[in-house]
Amino acid sequence: MSASFDAIVVGAGQAGPALAARLAGAGRKVAVVERASFGGTCVNDGCTPTKTLIASAHAAHLARRAGEYGVEIPGAVRVDMKRVKARKDEIVAKSSQGVRKWMEGLEGGKVYRGHARFTGRNTLRVGKEELRAEQIFLDVGGRPLVPKMPGIEAVRFLTNQSMMDLEVVPEHLIVVGGSYIGLEFGQMMRRFGARVTVVEMGPRLIAREDQDVSQAVKELLEAEGIEVRLGAECLTAEKDGEGVAIGLECKEGEPKARGSHLLLAVGRVPNTDDLGLEAAGIATDKRGYIEVDEELRTSNPNVWALGDCNGKGAFTHTAYNDYEIVAANLLEGARRKVSERVPVYALYTDPPLGRVGMSEAEIRQAGIEALVGKRPMTRVSRAVEKGETAGFLKIHVEAQSKRILGAALLGTSCDEAVHSLIDVVYSRIPYPEFQKRVRIHPNVSELLPFVLESLEPLK
Ligand SMILES: Cc1cc2nc3c(=O)[nH]c(=O)nc-3n(C[C@H](O)[C@H](O)[C@H](O)COP(=O)(O)OP(=O)(O)OC[C@H]3O[C@@H](n4cnc5c(N)ncnc54)[C@H](O)[C@@H]3O)c2cc1C
Repeated sequence: MSASFDAIVVGAGQAGPALAARLAGAGRKVAVVERASFGGTCVNDGCTPTKTLIASAHAAHLARRAGEYGVEIPGAVRVDMKRVKARKDEIVAKSSQGVRKWMEGLEGGKVYRGHARFTGRNTLRVGKEELRAEQIFLDVGGRPLVPKMPGIEAVRFLTNQSMMDLEVVPEHLIVVGGSYIGLEFGQMMRRFGARVTVVEMGPRLIAREDQDVSQAVKELLEAEGIEVRLGAECLTAEKDGEGVAIGLECKEGEPKARGSHLLLAVGRVPNTDDLGLEAAGIATDKRGYIEVDEELRTSNPNVWALGDCNGKGAFTHTAYNDYEIVAANLLEGARRKVSERVPVYALYTDPPLGRVGMSEAEIRQAGIEALVGKRPMTRVSRAVEKGETAGFLKIHVEAQSKRILGAALLGTSCDEAVHSLIDVVYSRIPYPEFQKRVRIHPNVSELLPFVLESLEPLK
């Protein structure tokens, strides 16, 4: 069986569905191929479920702190993990079904369920069907990386995917990987009542962030009773009764961490090894990411790669932005480029970290003469009123142009507050212009102009 289309979209994650809808809306005959759940990682085992679970964890945390606010909750706070999971499942299912119905209802679209694999430069096989199109768009995302650590094949471990099925709170969760995914799960599980040990190979947590950010995040996790083991250079895994033991060879402390459950959160790999890319003449880099140009076209000019699989971003908003770039260039005659995108993201620990633009380390590396302003969250009246004063606000400015280069905002509501700086970085206005604007009181964002009053040279 074979069928021809104007366009084939492989993967109904964060870029694919919007692009398919846009192309179909423009009158193109479109095939959408999805092998698993509609909505991809973000909807099914990424953003949506983790932020839903984090909301439950926050409720438990706040309930335990209720006395600080003059609220009495008699008895101990108990977490019913089955109900926590049911709430998460309901939200995920609604979202995934929404994407499925959207795709199945597309006028001019046809959905294929199954794994797509290239058989030629313009053809893909899905089950028994051969699909052909002039234009093919890959939005195949990624999956958890299982590290080659000695002994790992002999132990049971969890990933961000299997964490979604947990119906009990682990007695002691060992998280291998002290970066974004590991820290979100670690804090969440601690708040559900687990003992948590975070094991990180590097000398500090979230190594991509500045030293002061890593340190502050470590301190706030430790304040909640999470054990953090850094510099775990030679990781090994072995069975330990019903549980698991992780060999660390850390410079300090016990050489082993023993726990009931193990979560591997050491990174992700693109789903590009089983796509038959060679048949279509599509090149990847050493790590398997599909090589693309500024407009996200692959080495085969009829094929584009969007989202996590092109290595240009690792977020839902970057995947969606890829769709916007491709759609604008193909349907509106625009010449949008992926390099025009400013790096922005959040780490959803509590308090969250909101990030935009360059970090201190990147500014130094680029040799830019810069100024830095920093204020603790204890200066933010809203944070004081909420009883959530951990963290700080830090903004970097280019000395000569007075443009904001980047910011790291770690504190309550900073995942939202960072957006006012995102707009400023994009608009490239000098910071004194930003300072003139009135903000709402009491609000985290209102302190940002004052952070810029404390600028001093970045040493
Ligand atoms: C635990 C966790 C938390 C996260 N939290 C956030 C967050 O808070 N904010 C944020 O911005 N990002 C977050 N992310 C990242 C975010 O989920 C991804 O960046 C985003 O989902 C990428 O979208 P995508 O479209 O590139 O790929 P995906 O969402 O992974 O979608 C790819 C789709 O392609 C399908 N597919 C793959 N290969 C084939 C094939 N050969 N044939 C047919 N179908 C195929 C897959 O089944 C999948 O549905 C998180 C990720 C994880 C793991």
